Amino acid sequence: HGTTRTVLATQGLTKAFGGVRAVDDATVEFLEGKVNGLIGPNGSGKTTFFNCVTGMIKPDAGTVLLQDRDITRWSPHRIARAGIGRSFQLCRVFPRMTVLENMLVAVQPHGLREYLGGTRSPATVAKARQMLARVGIDHLESAEARDISYGQQKLLELGSTLMSDPPIVMLDEPAGGVNPSLIERIAVLVRELNDEGKTFIIVEHNMELIMKLCDHIVVFDRGRPIATGTPDVIQSDPRVLEAYLGV
Ligand code: ADP
Repeated sequence: HGTTRTVLATQGLTKAFGGVRAVDDATVEFLEGKVNGLIGPNGSGKTTFFNCVTGMIKPDAGTVLLQDRDITRWSPHRIARAGIGRSFQLCRVFPRMTVLENMLVAVQPHGLREYLGGTRSPATVAKARQMLARVGIDHLESAEARDISYGQQKLLELGSTLMSDPPIVMLDEPAGGVNPSLIERIAVLVRELNDEGKTFIIVEHNMELIMKLCDHIVVFDRGRPIATGTPDVIQSDPRVLEAYLGV
């Protein structure tokens, strides 16, 4: 209380596809050092919001603020370097690279090209192995990414996101398509990393997980926030129920 700061905010963020306002004048704040959740019915604009914040999509209007810096329209690379890491709803790994190679690619300053050029320092390899152990797939380091389970691929993607030590980690449906024991591992890991000071912003459909994991939740409906607060507050908000039931 009193000391919680806003780490990432949007003001009037708007993005339309044709006639559809996927994100519609969204003013949102996420809190530093917290596990922030972003929830809402299908099609409410969560992924588009993520893509605007991380520079994958240019918004039509509005601003994105990282602490006090205006990062609107920065390139995805520059935003990543400024400290925002992210994972994707449909897991993105390099299928024909090994698990370890996927980790090494993630930390290279410009990704794939440098990796193929052969810059892999012993320190980086050690760090990659350490991170693989942390996400619990170090025994798979020599396997090709396409040969491990989908849940393990999600853990790999999470591990590779963490390779650059981003202070802010945005996860798009980390538990989607993942079995319960791996979901539990992801939850424990998020908690640990949060205890170490990382801020999380998580889009997730698994309501039980969101309510258990998050300190601060923003609920989207039709491209804009309709409720904000702790899990307790969110769960008893009639607007949230209405949005989900489509009343
Ligand atoms: P959510 O992540 O909450 O499910 P999305 O951001 O994926 O929501 O989608 C919000 C709305 O924008 C939906 O109506 C969706 O169909 C539309 N939309 C998203 N991306 C595109 C796109 N690339 N082209 C056209 N419409 C899109």
